[in-house]
Amino acid sequence: MTRTTIHVDGTWRGALSGETRDVLDPADGQPFAVVAEGGTADADAAVASARAAFDSGVWRGAAVSERSALLRRVADLLVRDREELALLESRDAGKTVEEGRIDVDCVADTFRYFADLALTEGAGRVVDAGSDTVHSVVVHEPVGVCALITPWNYPLLQASWKIAPALAAGNTFVVKPSEITPLSTVALIALLTEAGLPAGVAGVVTGPGHTVGARLCEHPDVDLVSFTGGLTSGVKVAQAAAPGVKKVALELGGKNPNVVFADFCDTPAGFDTAVDQALNAAFIHSGQVCSAGSRLIIEESVRERFVAELSRRAGRIRLGRGTEKDVECGPLVSLAQLERTEEYVASALGEGAILRSGGARPEPSGTRPAGGWFYEPTVLDRCHRRMRVVREEVFGPVLTVETFRTEDEAVTLANDTEFGLAGAVWTADAARGRRVAGRLRHGTVWINDFHPYLPQAEWGGFGKSGIGRELGPSGLAEYREAKHIYQNLAPRPVRWFSG
Ligand code: NAD
Repeated sequence: MTRTTIHVDGTWRGALSGETRDVLDPADGQPFAVVAEGGTADADAAVASARAAFDSGVWRGAAVSERSALLRRVADLLVRDREELALLESRDAGKTVEEGRIDVDCVADTFRYFADLALTEGAGRVVDAGSDTVHSVVVHEPVGVCALITPWNYPLLQASWKIAPALAAGNTFVVKPSEITPLSTVALIALLTEAGLPAGVAGVVTGPGHTVGARLCEHPDVDLVSFTGGLTSGVKVAQAAAPGVKKVALELGGKNPNVVFADFCDTPAGFDTAVDQALNAAFIHSGQVCSAGSRLIIEESVRERFVAELSRRAGRIRLGRGTEKDVECGPLVSLAQLERTEEYVASALGEGAILRSGGARPEPSGTRPAGGWFYEPTVLDRCHRRMRVVREEVFGPVLTVETFRTEDEAVTLANDTEFGLAGAVWTADAARGRRVAGRLRHGTVWINDFHPYLPQAEWGGFGKSGIGRELGPSGLAEYREAKHIYQNLAPRPVRWFSG
């Protein structure tokens, strides 16, 4: 990857300051690419270009069918470059190449979904005004210039959840990827250009959050800010956007309960399935997933058997460089993330948690270079909700175990979080599954499953997990303004005033 990773006005260039940043490979801590380190001047230039493109009408004035066709072309290009993008995401974010492939497939699906939705949701809605002499219609228009800010755990995926609907609705945008994992977003913008997107409609500025990101949020020519990231940054984003009364969408963290009833474990394949899925829920991508099932909430009667098997299997997860064959789990994305994880585990042990598996950096091996930011999948038993590790988002491979005796207790525990992104319930009793799902205060609830999402279903959180929704019809609505056009077909004086 070159240093010319800033895209403004249809041109690739370096930072105006000339500064660059090394991109590090989490598997060995070594630089493997260099990107432009943009600053506020680059953000300003990108916004000016996006503003001019929006005001010119080059994209919002295009037929919906044309916008839809472009999104479909992008999906085709993603399929063409699937392997290359999966590898890039693996090097940059540390995930396995197979996870990278799944991400690219989901990104292509997202572009296809919004390509279709733009067509079906494009028409206005005629409103019955209660009069034959009034024609009333509600139409939807793009919001304007969008600032899109994304995190490092699913760089390409999170960018696509914003870019596809923003374009489908006719907006222009500037995207700022995480400074830790900028590469796949830069590649995606190149694909948009190749697909024929007019210059200025899509801009990207690589650079830090506190400069580029903050400037985009406060910029007077930005109409909407869509942010995915941590709670602390999300609050700053909302504060920076408030004086401009911009539309703000926030996708923040989660502390997601995985509730397992004993009745599910008593069914023939139930025990194995629930253990296997609990493992997947907590440890996929080393737990660096906003919806990670990091809180196992299990019925007391089955706890010991379940945790013993879960810990045994967690200890067998093959850690290594994501590009190596047979590796099941990659490193953490950064040294800071590794140290944060260690700190949470130490604090949990200090508060009385029992370590059942992991809890350390693994020894280097053939697939695990010495400088990599690896951490063993860790199971902490005998946890309770007053512990920091249970209340706060670790964003590492750490699973806490709490127990319940009754359904009410399970629901109370699962809802006892300031977040509300996602959760799951495992039970052989279908009625109980639906009952518990109905009582959970989380944006997504899985019954007897964990992690799947659908582009056509809304994603987002209750509580401090965010504001607004991505994906589904609401994901498009975020990027549109509704306009009511009321046409009087037989105008006459109203004579309210007599003079
Ligand atoms: P982060 O908040 O540190 O950074 C996210 C992005 O915001 C980065 O691009 C960063 O540069 C930028 N940023 C930082 N400070 C900013 C500021 N003051 N103004 C504007 N932009 C700023 O988050 P992260 O560590 O990259 O990602 C991990 C977090 O993201 C976790 O909390 C995770 O739960 C969350 N996340 C949520 C979802 C979801 O769908 N809800 C999905 C993925 C990740």
